[in-house]
Amino acid sequence: MAKIQMTTPLIEMDGDEMTRILWQMIKDELLLPFIDLKTEYYDLGLQYRNETDDQVTIDSAMATKKYGVAVKCATITPNHARMDEYNLKKMYKSPNGTIRAILDGTVFRTPIVVKGIEPCVRNWKKPITLARHAYGDIYKNTEMHVDVPGDAYLVFRGEDGSEREELIQHFDHPGILLGMHNLDDSIRSFARSCFNYALDVHESVWFGAKDTISKTYDARFKQIFQEVFDAEYKERFDAAGLEYFYSLIDDIVARVMKAQGGFIWACKNYDGDVMSDMVSSAFGSLAMMTSVLVSPDGVYEYEAAHGTVQRHYYKHLKGEETSTNSVATIFAWTGALRKRGELDGIKELVSFADRLEKATIETIESGKMTRDLALITSIENPEVLNSREFILAIRERLA
Ligand code: NAP
Ligand code: MG
Repeated sequence: MAKIQMTTPLIEMDGDEMTRILWQMIKDELLLPFIDLKTEYYDLGLQYRNETDDQVTIDSAMATKKYGVAVKCATITPNHARMDEYNLKKMYKSPNGTIRAILDGTVFRTPIVVKGIEPCVRNWKKPITLARHAYGDIYKNTEMHVDVPGDAYLVFRGEDGSEREELIQHFDHPGILLGMHNLDDSIRSFARSCFNYALDVHESVWFGAKDTISKTYDARFKQIFQEVFDAEYKERFDAAGLEYFYSLIDDIVARVMKAQGGFIWACKNYDGDVMSDMVSSAFGSLAMMTSVLVSPDGVYEYEAAHGTVQRHYYKHLKGEETSTNSVATIFAWTGALRKRGELDGIKELVSFADRLEKATIETIESGKMTRDLALITSIENPEVLNSREFILAIRERLA
């Protein structure tokens, strides 16, 4: 059979540890036999990041901006232990943080739903995609503990010499204070990313904040979302039969628990941090969660939501057998290939991505899976495969 041809390269960001091993297996067994794979390769493995003083991470993000679609393997974010382990020149920043800062994107996380791995919430029939605003609020705050009586003020000094001051609280007793901010531009980008992604995957957008209590701060989020929607997206949403729905965050949480799924839940930074862990664990496993960074100008970077699975890698190094789940990494590749196919008008590439996803899901539904899934599946007597056997089982079904 002739291999599928590509026109524009994907930006390929290789990574670390067990996911780097899976990365190569996925390419060798599931992609290269079927596609004349065109990629521009960047090695984001920690060793090469160290050799290039992390320039390779910046280069990979710039190349993504240029070509539009990237696929990324999980990477180590260095800490003190990694400094010694890899003999690092310095404690480099998280590659994801660096890439996100350059692409200015929003991260969308979607669970991969499979029969036999049932969500804890019985009525969730379709995936819920969580979109988290990744700028500001308490992640960029200033805090104080005060232990003498006094007055706390919120003060703004304008560069034009103006000054505004509001009393926060008169303290009779010791207490705590916090100041935080957000930016109209960042909120606007976030709203655009959510609405673009919704049109892309054909799902409605739900957004919740607390504007009844936070009448300026949260109200600003609500107002900007509505302005962006009305001015730029309403017509396209109407034509596609989709909706944008705002409500109070507590009302949204209650509705999510009663819903069937199949929508995008846009969350402010803290809500997204908390709710994405709730949604992903309720759907079953971090190893079944995909993640895509979408920039407001339509650049896409696909990856798995989990890390480099360090514990399994150390077993692998000792020559022991591993049963590491490659599903989210496979779906990072299919997401990127499908998007490349759509942008370049290559139908075969889009349908290959669909078939590879289908083969992966059917392999699990037929009872063949890695250990993490075997522990939580409702399928009786699942067959536990090792890392390579699982990928080979998918290949057999795909072929
Ligand atoms: P992790 O790699 O996500 O793994 C944590 C645990 O979750 C594993 O030990 C394993 O549990 C289970 N697990 C996760 N993915 C799995 C998979 N595909 N198949 C089977 N089990 C899976 O998180 P971590 O161990 O905390 O972090 C390791 C490294 O990853 C760190 O250096 C961190 O900086 C990096 N990291 C990178 C990213 C990214 O690039 N996006 C994200 C998060 C973390 P058991 O051990 O019980 O089997
Ligand atoms: Mg968190």
